[in-house]
Amino acid sequence: MPEEPCQCPDCQRFYREHDRLIRENPSLRQQQELNWAALQSFRTLAGRVLEELQKQHGDGDSAPTPAAPEADLQEAGGDGPPEGDAIQQAMADLENINAHLFSIEALMERIFDVRVPEPVEQTFREVAGELAPDPLNADRLRLNRLLHQTPDLPDHRGG
Ligand SMILES: [Zn+2]
Repeated sequence: MPEEPCQCPDCQRFYREHDRLIRENPSLRQQQELNWAALQSFRTLAGRVLEELQKQHGDGDSAPTPAAPEADLQEAGGDGPPEGDAIQQAMADLENINAHLFSIEALMERIFDVRVPEPVEQTFREVAGELAPDPLNADRLRLNRLLHQTPDLPDHRGG
């Protein structure tokens, strides 16, 4: 039943990042701040990119824009979906991501309301010190597996 941790470059990068985030943020308070900042930066960036795409390509609800000069490429190239379709798909994906991030934020606000007494924070730091140097930590292996799975996002488009 022993499970060898994957040592591919992606996993090794993940191990290092995982440990670094524990080492550098070893208290509950720091983890709260770290994750809040990560969530907000993700939302800000993805939201702005979506705005840009909507400005350039329409909001996706309207009919496809009339053929622009670069649409000639669709007829010239043979393989793969037309670039316009890929952009529309990306916009739909980004809208889904932003909706999920918004839901996550609502949940995380409750997590961030929590404050623990200093002795508990001290326990966080102690555990963090034990956890971060261990390359075969069980929690990390679990997280690593999650990282390697493409999450099955719920399909809201019906079917
Ligand atoms: Zn791997």
